[in-house]
Amino acid sequence: MKKTIISDMTEGIDSAGIALGGKILREGGLVAFPTETVYGLGGNALDAEAARKIYEAKGRPSDNPLIVHICTPEALEKITAEVPETAKRLADAFWPGPMTMIFRKSELVPESTTGGLDTVAVRFPDHPVALALIREAGGYVAAPSANTSGRPSPTLASHVWDDLRGRIDMIIDGGEVGIGIESTIVDLTGPEPVILRPGYITQEMLEKVVGRVSLDRALDSDDPAVRPKAPGMKYKHYAPKAPLYIVEGGQGAVQETIASLAEKAASEGKKVGVICTDESAENYRTGIVRSAGTRTDEATVAAHLYRILREMDALGADVIYAEAFDTAGIGMAVMNRLMKAAGHKVIHAGEEAQA
Ligand code: AMP
Ligand code: MG
Repeated sequence: MKKTIISDMTEGIDSAGIALGGKILREGGLVAFPTETVYGLGGNALDAEAARKIYEAKGRPSDNPLIVHICTPEALEKITAEVPETAKRLADAFWPGPMTMIFRKSELVPESTTGGLDTVAVRFPDHPVALALIREAGGYVAAPSANTSGRPSPTLASHVWDDLRGRIDMIIDGGEVGIGIESTIVDLTGPEPVILRPGYITQEMLEKVVGRVSLDRALDSDDPAVRPKAPGMKYKHYAPKAPLYIVEGGQGAVQETIASLAEKAASEGKKVGVICTDESAENYRTGIVRSAGTRTDEATVAAHLYRILREMDALGADVIYAEAFDTAGIGMAVMNRLMKAAGHKVIHAGEEAQA
């Protein structure tokens, strides 16, 4: 077991903490840090051995590439073979921010960072602690989400502590993150931009800047034979320990179905979790009831979803029922993560439930 240092930056940047974090990263160690999306587990992106340590600490399959985090737009040149015009326009519009772009990589980036691919994922995050740390580390920090592989991504430093203490050198606590789900990934290596993972930056927002942007076919297919282009999207992900079912249909029918499933499970002696919204929370009487946010603003649901999934684990839920959400705007990213957390188990309200 390593000793994991905690540095408290909830009230602002602490320059001694950044200096220490930067030194650890330059020497090949691992530092978890806050970003505007979720907490990242950083290692030097240009050091093959540091990348290998990231996979080991997370228990992450080594074919699942890491995102390289930079702190200036100019840093892009050195790690990519080519930056298309479209990418420059997207960078101008959305960087720093929750958008990752895929490029052909340069020689400088080791294959252990890119999971053996000849492309590299790059993000310029919008968080003062992340930017200060990346600068201090030398400018290129590989950072996947700072969770044990398969668990919900961390939105609080305590989530990182629960998963990775003793396995990494340092955790920087920047308080609760703002967005709460991972960045939008856009592939720019083909003839037109393709979204590989939906996020806070939506298809509509991207299209306003560069015209047509398509969605990776695997994103709206239930066919396991359609392989996602982002290797990480093929894994079951973001999952709580208890089986999670998504209930979809009209609002009234959804609430009735969840209420009766919850009562049935409770009568069988199970601890039930219910994930709902501000609009419906008071209609549920059974189990651990958590509102993720309001249906009038799906970004509020994105911000709280992972924390609630982890809370269900901590409270020992045996089975969890979640209301489905609208897939407009950021709702698409919310439903993408929820479906993966549920392993695609969906109950249609009104039909005979098989749970
Ligand atoms: P995480 O850092 O946990 O958000 O995971 C990073 C995501 O980016 C995973 O789904 C990876 O498969 C994806 N990714 C990283 N690099 C590439 C790449 N070169 N091509 C396609 N997807 C990538
Ligand atoms: Mg992840």
